[in-house]
Amino acid sequence: MGGFDGLVAVVTGGGSGIGAACVAAFVAGGAKVGVLDLDPGEQGGATLGVVADVADQGSLDAAMARVAEVYGGIDILVNNAGISAVGTVEANDDDEWHRVLDVNVVGVVRTTKAALPYLRRSSRAAIVNTSSIAATAGLMQRALYSASKGAVHSLTRAMAADLVSEGIRVNSVAPGTVDTPWVARLLAKAADPEAEKRQLAARQPTGRLVTAEEVAAAVAYLASPAAGATTGASLAVDGGMNGLRLPRV
Ligand code: NAD
Repeated sequence: MGGFDGLVAVVTGGGSGIGAACVAAFVAGGAKVGVLDLDPGEQGGATLGVVADVADQGSLDAAMARVAEVYGGIDILVNNAGISAVGTVEANDDDEWHRVLDVNVVGVVRTTKAALPYLRRSSRAAIVNTSSIAATAGLMQRALYSASKGAVHSLTRAMAADLVSEGIRVNSVAPGTVDTPWVARLLAKAADPEAEKRQLAARQPTGRLVTAEEVAAAVAYLASPAAGATTGASLAVDGGMNGLRLPRV
């Protein structure tokens, strides 16, 4: 997708998986991209890697200032960095609840606060948050993770309401299970990783995992001027998992 010539995007968690695919999509569309991550990986050319922790406001403020200094502003923010949590309500202690909510929810708040002064100067400002199917469907062993993504889902709408009068659109994507290093790490811990992967694929009506590129295409659309009338929306990229009810065969 084109349409990003002259625009600057910032992607948190841009060093891996969905975030890295978003970075590639923006670059292919003509944008310059700030890649904010604990480990941004090799960057250069149209991308600038900046080490930043979404749990640390100071590092985010410094990272946004650096991207704006190098590329002349910021038009698009993708709040994508996130961490996993597995278990029922009895599984995770208070410290784990605070740590995951701090990264997955307050991380979005901190990053947005750091980016807003720059987004306000853009005439094409857009924010896209990475939520999850776990925000709206009950999944086993995902109590804390689901609570964090449910918060991102609601926060997206509240942010959209607050920022619409300033011309800043805010939307989210809600992926199903995506084939990324994150899922590879989860599968590696399963007793039978291949069987577990087949089960995850079968859970999605399309019968396969989503690709990071498919999520990135949705993010790029929501961030692009083509989505100029869309704000406060959640776009499912989940192989039909949230919306379809198929007969069992
Ligand atoms: P990933 O592990 O491949 O990439 C996540 C990136 O975020 C990593 O580069 C990591 O270093 C970075 N990161 C983690 N904590 C950070 C922090 N505190 N500050 C800055 N960067 C940090 O994971 P992914 O699968 O690409 O997931 C990306 C997003 O998509 C997450 O928000 C995740 O919840 C969401 N998501 C993933 C799936 C899936 O099935 N993979 C499904 C739905 C939603």
